[in-house]
Amino acid sequence: MLPFSFFDAHCDTLSCCLHLGWDLRSSPGHTDLERGGQFQRYAQVFAIFHDAARAPMDGMFAECCRQAEEFFVQMKRNAALVAPCRTAADLEQTERAGKCAAILSIEGADLLECDPARLETAAQWGVRLINLTWNRANALSGSHLEEPERGLSAQGKDFVRRAQSLGILVDVSHLSDAGFWDLMDQSEKPVVASHSDARALCSNTRNLTDEMFRCICATGGFAGLNFYTPFLGLDHSLDAVFAHLEHFLDLGGEKYVGFGGDWDGCDRLPDGICGVQDMERIYEGMLRRNYSAELIEDLFYRNLKRVIFEQSEQ
Ligand SMILES: [Zn+2]
Repeated sequence: MLPFSFFDAHCDTLSCCLHLGWDLRSSPGHTDLERGGQFQRYAQVFAIFHDAARAPMDGMFAECCRQAEEFFVQMKRNAALVAPCRTAADLEQTERAGKCAAILSIEGADLLECDPARLETAAQWGVRLINLTWNRANALSGSHLEEPERGLSAQGKDFVRRAQSLGILVDVSHLSDAGFWDLMDQSEKPVVASHSDARALCSNTRNLTDEMFRCICATGGFAGLNFYTPFLGLDHSLDAVFAHLEHFLDLGGEKYVGFGGDWDGCDRLPDGICGVQDMERIYEGMLRRNYSAELIEDLFYRNLKRVIFEQSEQ
């Protein structure tokens, strides 16, 4: 048993289960329930993801429904090891039972075909986070990669209102900068960047500027460090992860930073990190740097738990 808990904000493992036939109990990828069971407590946000440029014949929402169904098939098949968590009470019960906690998210509103009415279905599944865009621009907003100068449309603003009123957090990873600032103008709830690093250290538009990060903290939100090495820049060592982490800590992020590893959604990880089993190396690095037990628990678990499950009214 590892001496710490881990709550991670982003993986793409679910689409691998559906399309590659993986089982969540034991997979060839970056995370599974057997490895997750090594943590004191393990909670993982599972994203429903599909590239809209490769939409299936029956459309993106049909694909979204298939992945949601796959999530519940996996939950049932592995019920001895994991439970789906929608509420704080679900999480507490799951922690007490010593099981892994699984939380659903949607990476790109394209999967709901940008229809605000479909958020109700997503909320019924237990979806707690949604990215307005993935890399493609859509009817809600430009993305960081396509039409990056375009912010939220009227439909985008309506979508944000409906999501937040249903208790679904808006996730800005992949969004255009213009969309980010439009969101900040109207947001009434904490804002999350589930898997983004610091742009001051690696000038990729997938990353957050210092000003963006401060605004996310001011909403009571969360930023999860992404392990994908092109977003870390610098070198490929664990020191690069710590450089980004300590940059956010220097900006006052102790209560607002954690991890969103992009597990099974990226193919290049730092040296020594092959999956969640290697989070122990990060833990050891924190001890070497004399992080307090309180800070370690916040970064690994409590900050993300708070933003998803203990939303205070902002
Ligand atoms: Zn992503």
